[in-house]
Amino acid sequence: MKPVRILSVASEIFPLIKTGGLADVAGALPLALAPLDFDVRSLVPGYPAVLRQLEKPVAVHQYANLFGGPARLLDAQAGKLRLFALDAPHLYDRPGNPYTNAEGKDWPDNAQRFAALARAGADIGLGLLPGFVPDVVHAHDWQAGLTAAYLHYAGKPRPATLATVHNLAFQGQFDKALLPTLGLPPEAFAIGGVEYYGTIGYLKAALQLSDRITTVSPTYAREIMQPESGMGLDGLLRERRAVVSGILNGIDTEVWNPAHDEHLAARYDARVLRLRARDKAALQQRMDLDVDAERPLFGVISRLSWQKGLDLLIDALPALLAHGQLAVLGSGDAALEEKYTRAAEDHRGRVGCVLGYDEELAHQIQGGADVLLVPSRFEPCGLTQLCALRYGAVPLVARVGGLNDTVIDANDMALDAGVATGFQFAPIDVPALEGAIVRAASAFRDKQAWSRLQLNGMRTDVSWEQPARRYAQLYRDLLATR
Ligand code: ADP
Repeated sequence: MKPVRILSVASEIFPLIKTGGLADVAGALPLALAPLDFDVRSLVPGYPAVLRQLEKPVAVHQYANLFGGPARLLDAQAGKLRLFALDAPHLYDRPGNPYTNAEGKDWPDNAQRFAALARAGADIGLGLLPGFVPDVVHAHDWQAGLTAAYLHYAGKPRPATLATVHNLAFQGQFDKALLPTLGLPPEAFAIGGVEYYGTIGYLKAALQLSDRITTVSPTYAREIMQPESGMGLDGLLRERRAVVSGILNGIDTEVWNPAHDEHLAARYDARVLRLRARDKAALQQRMDLDVDAERPLFGVISRLSWQKGLDLLIDALPALLAHGQLAVLGSGDAALEEKYTRAAEDHRGRVGCVLGYDEELAHQIQGGADVLLVPSRFEPCGLTQLCALRYGAVPLVARVGGLNDTVIDANDMALDAGVATGFQFAPIDVPALEGAIVRAASAFRDKQAWSRLQLNGMRTDVSWEQPARRYAQLYRDLLATR
């Protein structure tokens, strides 16, 4: 049997370029699918960071003019990933963040930059490269959203299409005047096409025109069909509910493995969990906290944004400090960055804050914190709580989205059944967060019960194995039912 060919289209891919969980998924899923008899290639924009890391690139197609300049498709390897990189210097040869300029503002030509990605994805889907004609085109998030539209309006036999939503908050909405320049026919500007409240909606187009839709957890799949969480797209998602499903993300369990983690002061596994105490002490030193084994150390690794609920944590800080310490690694919203910097100054030795993106420190927090906090207002899947489970940092999370699906609250029933892995709180407000912090702090005092929580978490399967099987099944169903 020939392997099923999948073209994954994504605007970021770990380890080449990453701003969030999307990159992790785009980088890990192809590798997890390979043993299941899938041939997955990933199409990504040729940002400088991507082009630099390509091994043996070969130009397999030239565009004379792709949205304002010449472009090439490069077929290349990068580590274990097989890639097509869209080398279009007029669109992607810019430093830093893939979406924004040095001031943090969206590039004014993002509509063209990501239409070009989608155009190339659709072209490959339609057979542009005879050496790789995909059976399924899997487009991630709004940046790849127009892929389904180009395929739909091509008027030719096309591959099956799947759209995955990693975060409904980012939708890619642009002026309708752009329509002719995007190479879409006039009839595309309709409710059944790319039209979205009088604009062109890239994510909307993907949700409207793809054969199947997934999001990254079952709970988030349900939530986004409700008006409170649907961000304008709930009606469409309800209408298409028969083709919507949720598949949890996994994590790379080699990159995230406390037994072999070079970033840790002491490596450990479930049998020698006591060694974790050394990582806690090292983290306390690294973050200018008092070295204190007795009180729980709460950790945060996050974008600092409204979504992540870290303003709630600032308000809950007095309650937290009554019981333990806080170590925060994050970057983003300037007001939040300032609040956490000030908290570290006001509570020296008890609050540590590092602003920025720091892969190594992220590992050290997972290895050294007793509790990992994720108080998100909404969370499609969330990855840091999965890493936390693997590292024996007990997750304390808001009861939303993927957090709800991955952490089992230490309520009486779960404790009796011996399956609890962490703490959930709801509603998502300061008193409920404080309540959960107090609950975690008092559980921490019972060392035996605490290590049971840790061990349950460490036994949880957070790898890509199960998720990859679910995607494999979905691709196969999709091909069988067309
Ligand atoms: P989102 O994609 O919404 O930011 P996720 O939890 O899905 O949130 O994924 C975030 C990923 O980025 C995780 O792998 C996490 O470890 C990582 N991360 C977030 N902030 C930082 C940071 N400041 N430094 C290092 N890694 C970070």
